[in-house]
Amino acid sequence: MDCIFCGIVNGQIPSKKVFESDEVIAFEDIQKAAPIHVLVVPKRHMESIMDLPDDDLTLLSKLQQAIKEVARLTGAAESGFRVITNKGTPAGQTVFHLHYHILGGRELERSLG
Ligand code: 5GP
Ligand code: ZN
Repeated sequence: MDCIFCGIVNGQIPSKKVFESDEVIAFEDIQKAAPIHVLVVPKRHMESIMDLPDDDLTLLSKLQQAIKEVARLTGAAESGFRVITNKGTPAGQTVFHLHYHILGGRELERSLG
């Protein structure tokens, strides 16, 4: 399987890592849309939010905790931030490995799409 984010998880593709735990990694987006733009990614490959298990919420809580930790580490917790996950091409998904964008460090547009 040719997945960019699996390549980042296993170290084959370099990234600017912000946070790492047993099941989650966070790194700076290569094309920042805001001064703070970090991607929070489960290490295990799954295509989108719809593939998170329904019967085991452990990974979901770890992702949520990682989002909060990244917000603290980057200063986004103070500056304000937005969390986005895209599912499917019509929603703008281009990398088909689940990720949450954390955007902050500037005034964000009110538009939600
Ligand atoms: P999506 O459009 O799927 O919601 O977001 C994918 C994001 O991944 C984009 O913001 C894009 O800039 C970022 N991205 C794509 N390739 C790479 C890469 O090789 N390294 C990093 N750090 N980010 C990437
Ligand atoms: Zn992957």
